[in-house]
Amino acid sequence: MSLKSGQKPRRVAILGSTGSIGDSTIDVIERHGDAFQIVALTAHSNWKKLAEQARRLKPEMVALADPAGYAELKGALAGTNINVGAGPEAVCEAAAHQSDVVMAAIVGAAGLKPTLEAVKRGAVIALANKECLVSAGTLFMAAVKEHAATLLPVDSEHNAVFQCFEDAQRDKICRIILTASGGPFRTWSREDMAGVTPAQAVAHPNWSMGAKISVDSATMMNKGLEVIEAHHLFDLPSEQIDIVVHAQSVVHSMVEYEDGSVLAQLGTPDMRTPIAYALGWPNRLHTPSRLNLAQMRTLTFEDPDVERFPAISLARRALQSGGSTPTILNAANEIAVARFLAGEIGFLDIAAIVEHTLDRVPAPDLGTLDDVIAVDAEARRIAGEAKRLSTAAE
Ligand code: NAD
Ligand code: MG
Repeated sequence: MSLKSGQKPRRVAILGSTGSIGDSTIDVIERHGDAFQIVALTAHSNWKKLAEQARRLKPEMVALADPAGYAELKGALAGTNINVGAGPEAVCEAAAHQSDVVMAAIVGAAGLKPTLEAVKRGAVIALANKECLVSAGTLFMAAVKEHAATLLPVDSEHNAVFQCFEDAQRDKICRIILTASGGPFRTWSREDMAGVTPAQAVAHPNWSMGAKISVDSATMMNKGLEVIEAHHLFDLPSEQIDIVVHAQSVVHSMVEYEDGSVLAQLGTPDMRTPIAYALGWPNRLHTPSRLNLAQMRTLTFEDPDVERFPAISLARRALQSGGSTPTILNAANEIAVARFLAGEIGFLDIAAIVEHTLDRVPAPDLGTLDDVIAVDAEARRIAGEAKRLSTAAE
C-alpha cells in the first residue's frame, strides 16, 4: 500500500510491541514507509527493547505494564517528546489513544482490559490476543457490537476463515475447519511426552512464536482456544467448528459450503501475511512471503488424537458448558503453562491441572468485567496450588 496524494497515514497502536507478533507487525509497517504512522507502543517489562523501538519509530506515547522499569525507560527516552507511562492503566491509555488500527498482541488475559479500551472507541482492532476472546468472549463481542468496533482476526486460522467466509451465504456454511500443525509432539506417545522439557516444547516445527503460545501448540490447547475464539468471531456452535491436523501449516483453515465447495486460504507459515491483511484491510499489502507448492510436494491431513492431546476436549467441554467455564480454562492454562516453563510441573501436568481447576472452580454466568476478573483470579489460585497431577500412563 502506498499513500495517494492528500491521504493521511493510518495511525497504528501496537499493544505488546516487544513480542513475536509485535516484531512482525513492525516489520510489515516498516516495509510500507509513509502509509502508516505508529502512534503508541506497549510492553510488559522489556524497557530496553521498547526504548529501542520508540527511538526508531517515534510514537507519540509508550507504556510499560510493569512499573519497575519506568525510570530506565524514561531515562532512555530523555530528549525525545515521547510520552512515557507505566502500569496497567498506562497500557489502557495507549489503547485509548487516538489511532485508526490497534494491534492487540499482548499475550494472555492481561490483554483483555486494554483491548476493550480500543473497542470502546470503535477502533479497528487487529486481534492476535485470542485469550481475551476465550476469557470473556460474550462480553467482548457485545462491546464490539455496542461500540461498532471492527474486529479483524490476526490468528492465522481465523484470518484464513475470515478471508473465505461469505457472510451473505452464512446459512449455506456447513462448518469451518481449523488446521493444526500438531506441534512438536504430533507423533509422540504420552509416555514420551511425560519427559518433555520447556526447551523442547517451545521449539515449534513451523512457526516462530512467543513461549506461551508455543507451549499451547505443543499441548494442542492452542487449537482448543482457537475453537472458542472461532465460536465468538464467526458465531458458530462447537459442532460446526472442526479441527484437522495438517503438519505442514500451509493450508491455514477452510470453510465448507452446502454445495460441497471447500474454500481455503494458503500461504507459508509467516504471520506477516495475516498481519498485513489486518493492517491493510480492506486493501492488500505486499509481504515477502511466497508459497512454492511444487517444492512442498506433499500436504497431509489427519484427525486430531484427543486421547494423546486431552486439552482439545477440555476446551470443547468449556465451550459447551458456557458461562465462565472458558474463563476458568484460560486462566488455569496460563498458570499451568507458566509453571511448566518455570520447571515446576511436567508437560502432561498442564492439561491435568486445567481439568483439576475446571472441576473445582464454580462457573457463574458473566455479567460484567469484574465477574470475569473474579473468576479468573480464583482459577489462577487453584491452578497455582495444584500439585503435580499426571502420570504418563493415565
Ligand atoms: P510474546 O510473548 O512474544 O509477546 C507478548 C507481548 O505481550 C510482549 O510485548 C509482552 O511484553 C506483552 N505482555 C506480556 N504480558 C503482559 C502484561 N501482563 N501486560 C501488558 N503486556 C504484556 O507473544 P506472541 O507470540 O507475540 O503472542 C501474542 C498474542 O498473539 C497471544 O495471544 C498469542 O496467542 C497470539 N498469537 C500469536 C501468534 C504468533 O505467531 N506469535 C500467532 C497467533 C496468535
Ligand atoms: Mg493460530
